[in-house]
Amino acid sequence: MGYTWNGDPAQSMAAEEARTAARKTERVTKSLFGVFDPSKCGTRQNYYQHGVYDVPRCQPCKDAESEYARGWRKTRTRKPTKQPFDPSKCGENRGYQQHINHGTNPCGPCTEAHSAYMIAYNEQRRAA
Ligand SMILES: [Zn+2]
Ligand SMILES: [Zn+2]
Repeated sequence: MGYTWNGDPAQSMAAEEARTAARKTERVTKSLFGVFDPSKCGTRQNYYQHGVYDVPRCQPCKDAESEYARGWRKTRTRKPTKQPFDPSKCGENRGYQQHINHGTNPCGPCTEAHSAYMIAYNEQRRAA
């Protein structure tokens, strides 16, 4: 009495199909996310890959991210300091400062305001 096949051929076909489908989805997810590549560590891309693959972030990747964040913050904070020149401030000491900040020559009213400010400042210091 040898081995006798008593399985349903249709069922085995379905099982084979399920296996093929599983292999297909496996290939899809792999091509979609790839695999974690430690050779790319030290780049900002891999900093996020650590999160995708749930791999603890290594120091080179952290450095790459903080380096990028620092550069980004620098470009963000540099802009507001370059305010447009406001001529309504002329004739005041802050108008004089504005000329200095913009690298322009202080105009007459600003020079006067500044020297008046300096005289008042020196008098205040002498009085103190
Ligand atoms: Zn890394
Ligand atoms: Zn001025």
